[in-house]
Amino acid sequence: MHHRTRAKGLLLFVLVAVAILPRAIFAQTPIKLHGNKYKPEDDVKLGREAAAQAEQKLQLLGDPQLNAYVQRVGQRLVAAIPPEFQHQEFQYYFKVVNAKEINAFALPGGPMYVNTGMIAAAKTEAEMAGVMAHEISHVALRHGTAQVTKAQKYDTFSQILGMGGAVLGGPIGTAAQLGAQGMGVYLLKFSREYESEADLLGARIMATAGYDPRDLANMFKTIESQGGGEGGWFSSHPSAKDRYAKINKEAELLKVNTAAAPDANDLVAAKQRLSGGPMTANNQGTAVGNAANPAGPPSGRVEKPSSRYVPYDKGVFSVSVPENWKPLEGQNGLWFAPAGGAGSVNGQTVFTHAVNLGAVRSAAKDPQQATDEFIKSITQGSDLRARGGYQRVDVNGRPGQIITFDNVNEATGQPELVNIITTQLRSGDLFYMIAVSPRDDYQSYHPTFAEILRSIRFKDQD
Ligand code: ZN
Repeated sequence: MHHRTRAKGLLLFVLVAVAILPRAIFAQTPIKLHGNKYKPEDDVKLGREAAAQAEQKLQLLGDPQLNAYVQRVGQRLVAAIPPEFQHQEFQYYFKVVNAKEINAFALPGGPMYVNTGMIAAAKTEAEMAGVMAHEISHVALRHGTAQVTKAQKYDTFSQILGMGGAVLGGPIGTAAQLGAQGMGVYLLKFSREYESEADLLGARIMATAGYDPRDLANMFKTIESQGGGEGGWFSSHPSAKDRYAKINKEAELLKVNTAAAPDANDLVAAKQRLSGGPMTANNQGTAVGNAANPAGPPSGRVEKPSSRYVPYDKGVFSVSVPENWKPLEGQNGLWFAPAGGAGSVNGQTVFTHAVNLGAVRSAAKDPQQATDEFIKSITQGSDLRARGGYQRVDVNGRPGQIITFDNVNEATGQPELVNIITTQLRSGDLFYMIAVSPRDDYQSYHPTFAEILRSIRFKDQD
């Protein structure tokens, strides 16, 4: 593939070179550095603080081989940064985040995080390297502190750090509430100008490292084709069409270092590790521990909910569920699921179609705080992403709230919707009902969930 594209590139180069003579051989679009009142050490310090915060929230993948692979690709790219954009203070390192969203981001001074979703989405190692080279370019061009310089002419560096990096720390808190997986929200949002510089330098780094720079452009298409437009790298890196053409144009001016060509089998092996399963071990999502463990993962193929409902008495509350949904009681409350809708993955019970009911002790001042804390405990370290905010709902005549999350089922890999409904019990404890179904089945399961919710009766009336 490299040989073919090089030949084509050479032909185009000749045409371009004729058109733009007397430019030097392989002249590239120049990249200028922006005004920056910070020293490179400040980038390192800022990035380190942000990395420490990010790593508290992100679920890092504990797979040494995959981490080593991404680290290897990253260091190959770092070695290809043109000398004029190298900073000896910077320490580039690369970590894999266990999250399905197609995303990656780098922090000032060098820390970089690549989601498993990005690795899974890339068609070739060069496509993955393209995103990484682009992110490395933001770091090398010191875009983070350049942007802060522009935005906050009179603030001191310590003030900026105190504000949580002005752009980094604050939004990390927000991300935590959303389950820490909305990494896009604490990416620095760069201007078009910065983005296009990172594309240009990224393409140059790619070529020197032995990758076809066109694969940076191709990665935009790949992400787009996989519906990556929601909240991931794609949403912080818009106007794909524009950039696609521009990167490809720059690529004509670049000579790919074929001596450094990577091994195409490495990404294949990495993807096999991803689908093989060590990464799902820590993924909580809708999994619960200690429920009666059905053997094998849930098939997700379930029979339609019976229109006959049977009551179930749980002491403080009672509920009715479709006759063909069986109870499973565990430390995370009471679950009801049809056959095929519950199963076991890595020792955890995972559901595809189910409701979960229970109550949690709460020391919160008010129902809202209790609900916020409960939601946080569920979403932290998971892939759950909120769809809008709370809505009011009535639970056996009591004011309650409902919030909906998007998730990816850890057994089937299918998108699913998770509805969480809460209300306060007389004791102050928080009652909850969680309803899970594949996104595609939601329309047909919604009436069942509504019926189950309507059947709830509290027995702590005063
Ligand atoms: Zn960017």
